[in-house]
Amino acid sequence: MRLILLGPPGAGKGTQASRLVAKHGIPQLSTGDMLRAAVGSGTPVGLKAKAVMDSGALVSDDIVVGIVSERIEEDDARRGFILDGFPRTVAQAEALGAMLRRKGLKLDAVIEFAVDESALLSRIEKRAAETVATGGTVRADDNPEALKKRLAAYREQTAHLVDYYRRTGELRTVDGMASINTVASSIDAILAEAVS
Ligand code: AMP
Repeated sequence: MRLILLGPPGAGKGTQASRLVAKHGIPQLSTGDMLRAAVGSGTPVGLKAKAVMDSGALVSDDIVVGIVSERIEEDDARRGFILDGFPRTVAQAEALGAMLRRKGLKLDAVIEFAVDESALLSRIEKRAAETVATGGTVRADDNPEALKKRLAAYREQTAHLVDYYRRTGELRTVDGMASINTVASSIDAILAEAVS
C-alpha cells in the first residue's frame, strides 16, 4: 500500500501515520524526520537544511526528492510506505510520479487532512508541552513564529497539491478536526475502498 498524507503542520498526519504503520506493517517515511536525523548527525544534507528548517521555510526540492528516492529503494519499503510531509510542492509531486512510474508502482491514495487553521497553533503548543512533560526535546520549529512561516509555506506551495491530486483523481479528504478515532475510521474506509 502506498499512501500520501497531506495537510498543514499540526493536522494529525504523524499520529495517523504511526497507527497505519502498526496496522499495515509498512514504514512511515517522514521527510521532516529524515531531515532532522540528517541535521542531528551533521551530514552534508543536514548542514544545508538546518537553518532553512529552523526558520520554518521549505528545504529545496532537489534535496528532498533525493532522500525520498533513496529511501523508497530500501527493503522495508518494498511492500509499501506512507509518505508524511512529502510531497510538499507540485514539483515534488511530479518528481514522485516519475519515480514511481520508473519503478512500475502507483499510489493507492492521497489523503488530505482538512483542518481549521486557527486550531493549529494550540495543537502545536500542546505537542510541545507534551514533549517537555515526557522529557523530550521540543522541535526548534514548534514555536509560534516558525509555525506562522510553516503555515504560510503550506498555503503558498503545498495547498496547490490538493488541486494537483484532485485533477489526477487520487485525492480523498478526511475531517482533520474530528477525534483521532473518527479520523482513523475515515482513513480505514478510504483504504478499504482503494485496495478493493
Ligand atoms: P515536518 O516535520 O514535516 O513539519 O517538516 C519540518 C521541516 O522540514 C519543514 O518545515 C521543512 O523545512 C522541512 N521539510 C520537511 N519535508 C519537506 C519537503 N517535502 N520539502 C521541503 N522541506 C521539507
